[in-house]
Amino acid sequence: MAGRVEGKVALITGGASGIGRACAERLAQEGATVVVTDLQDAKGAEVVAAIRAAGGKAEYLHHDVTQEQAWIDVIAAVKASQGRLDILVNNAGIGLSASVLEMPLADFQRQFAINVDGVFLGLKHSIPLMREGKAGGSIINMSSIAGLKGSPRMSGYCGTKGAVRLMTKSVAMECANEKDGIRVNSMHPGIIETPIWDSIIGTGDPGDNARPARPAVLDALTADAVPMGVKGYPEDIANGVLWLASDESRYVTGAEMVIDGGLTVK
Ligand code: NAD
Repeated sequence: MAGRVEGKVALITGGASGIGRACAERLAQEGATVVVTDLQDAKGAEVVAAIRAAGGKAEYLHHDVTQEQAWIDVIAAVKASQGRLDILVNNAGIGLSASVLEMPLADFQRQFAINVDGVFLGLKHSIPLMREGKAGGSIINMSSIAGLKGSPRMSGYCGTKGAVRLMTKSVAMECANEKDGIRVNSMHPGIIETPIWDSIIGTGDPGDNARPARPAVLDALTADAVPMGVKGYPEDIANGVLWLASDESRYVTGAEMVIDGGLTVK
């Protein structure tokens, strides 16, 4: 049986860790060739090695999503090695928490540079290569439940994720107007256990998968906020991304996919 994204080429930013890694692995399992990009080169290489060991096709590129020239270089590299681009998962992001009265402007701006400039640059530079293929495309922008409702001490993060939500709808309409077959949707995860929480709740050095405090703090947050009573895992988001990336969602654009155990319903 053919995979659900067989023959497609997917670029996943922030693919060395957490949700991005799970998206890369899931898309590769279903037949896509995945280009994993990140700042964390050793972890990115590990992801690619794991995908190849499982029989999938993958390559890794170093990529800072805040830099326009880095995007130009990455898209040129994808064109050279794969000849096309069908799927972009604009996933790289950080989460910084502080009272609005205490948040340093530099941290606020760094968060916007990664979470918003990075998504904007991804849209700007991937769409021309998708259009060259004349086979449409699917772009999934990683927003959050923080792009749908407010949380205290998260003004910067909520601002970035709200921006991603509406930027998605604007570009979805732009592509629809061009009749280019490119669909643009936003993904809104709830509480998903990944290293991003270390910088949000202060449980340790970002990126360290072994911090013991994180699961306990997340369990407590979850018990309070999530109707289903359980936290999510990166593969829960990757399964939604797979559907949005595949032709199964061919009539879906400008939409918000919420995967949060009911958190935003409460
Ligand atoms: P994570 O920290 O595990 O992964 C984020 C990845 O982005 C890391 O590998 C990091 O190196 C990379 N990255 C950071 N800055 C970068 C840059 N400038 N250029 C390229 N790569 C960069 O976190 P995660 O939870 O997997 O987060 C993935 C996305 O999901 C983020 O956009 C995050 O805001 C969003 N999200 C996460 C949750 C959650 O509960 N984990 C909930 C909602 C939304």
